[in-house]
Amino acid sequence: MSLIDYHVHTPLCNHAKGEMEAYVQQAVKLGLAEICFLDHLTLRPDGSFLSMSPQEVPLYHRAVKRLAAKYEDRIWVKVGLEVDFDLETMEQAMEIVDAHSFDAIGGSVHFIGEWNMVSHKERDNCPYRECEDMFAEYLDHLEAMAEHSFFDFLCHLDVVGKFGDSPQDRMEDRWDQVISTIAGKDIAVEINTSGKRHPKGELYPSLWILKKLNQAGVPITLGSDAHSPKQVGMDFDEAVSLAREAGYHSLATFSHRIRGEVSLSP
Ligand SMILES: [Zn+2]
Ligand SMILES: [Zn+2]
Repeated sequence: MSLIDYHVHTPLCNHAKGEMEAYVQQAVKLGLAEICFLDHLTLRPDGSFLSMSPQEVPLYHRAVKRLAAKYEDRIWVKVGLEVDFDLETMEQAMEIVDAHSFDAIGGSVHFIGEWNMVSHKERDNCPYRECEDMFAEYLDHLEAMAEHSFFDFLCHLDVVGKFGDSPQDRMEDRWDQVISTIAGKDIAVEINTSGKRHPKGELYPSLWILKKLNQAGVPITLGSDAHSPKQVGMDFDEAVSLAREAGYHSLATFSHRIRGEVSLSP
């Protein structure tokens, strides 16, 4: 079985460390078949300090392509972006994406309104008194992102529970609706192992969501969300077990934004 890591960052986003080449070297060391850079493109002004700037996108694209050529006999290096979903900036994001030949575009919800819900520092500024209200708002954003039909896969689907809040089981009907929207748009979802390193302590998404995704026919891909080279491929054994437990037999791959797959068979 050859595994893939479709979600790694670079220092261009201002909060990851290590040379881009070191991420590729770690993937080669682990024997991965593919690594896809999926660095942040956040165009909303309040998140731009956590992202490369639009002007840096061509430089980033060239840097990945150089590594792809250098390592082509050892690993498939792909280029993508993790784009923050924000209706006000989507048109600009689409123009930037369409101006380059990307392999995969991941969509993420990190912000609810002005609030960065994944930031430790902003944790105390949570505008919601009830956990359910925060989840409801997040799920509205998630569904809107799926309906937009622009993304190849959706990242860390239940990241709203990053800090351990978990009213998901009390919101099952709403999750069912959102999953049905995702399935209807033929978008993939990632298993993202960074949740293991967060207070939640579990991969994203939780197994019960993953099972529903499988039942709905939603393909999955796999990413570490590495923000340093040593995090590449982290906790992939657990991710593969989880995928199999949910009923999956393959992982989605992307080339020039066309979906393929690799087998999860041993
Ligand atoms: Zn993210
Ligand atoms: Zn990420």
